[in-house]
Amino acid sequence: MNRTIALVAHDNRKKDLIEWVEFNKGTLLRHKLICTGTTGRMVEAALMQNRAKNEPLPEITLLKSGPLGGDQQLGALICEGKVDMLFFLWDPMQPQPHDVDVKALLRISSLYNIPTATNRSTADFIISSPLFEGEYKPQLKNFSDYLGRSIDL
Ligand code: PGA
Repeated sequence: MNRTIALVAHDNRKKDLIEWVEFNKGTLLRHKLICTGTTGRMVEAALMQNRAKNEPLPEITLLKSGPLGGDQQLGALICEGKVDMLFFLWDPMQPQPHDVDVKALLRISSLYNIPTATNRSTADFIISSPLFEGEYKPQLKNFSDYLGRSIDL
């Protein structure tokens, strides 16, 4: 199954993510990638490096840089059902100018129940799961009670 996979890393975690991308290049090239701007440029360079002639070109969409709205763009795409999983190596040791956006992205990925890795070991577990390329549809909660709630005016 062809998936749309979001990749995001804060600056101190980009090295980790790029190593992981290089290690999993063969698998990742079979899917569509969507990344925040700076992460995406680095992922693209890593996938293009030492590219064998018969290797597919990476299919990669670059959003805005995270602090400039990229996390929010990604959150909106998750709401629209356009992203299947999120690999987000956020930095637990440094506050970010867009901390609220980071929190919002993680909230939306939970709400829409998409597989989400926030560290390398979880990323390893997800990508090596038989479900990764299998037919798996995350179950969505039914929000009709919430949407139909009555509000006193
Ligand atoms: P960047 O953004 O890929 O543009 O560095 C990452 C983020 O902070 O969300």
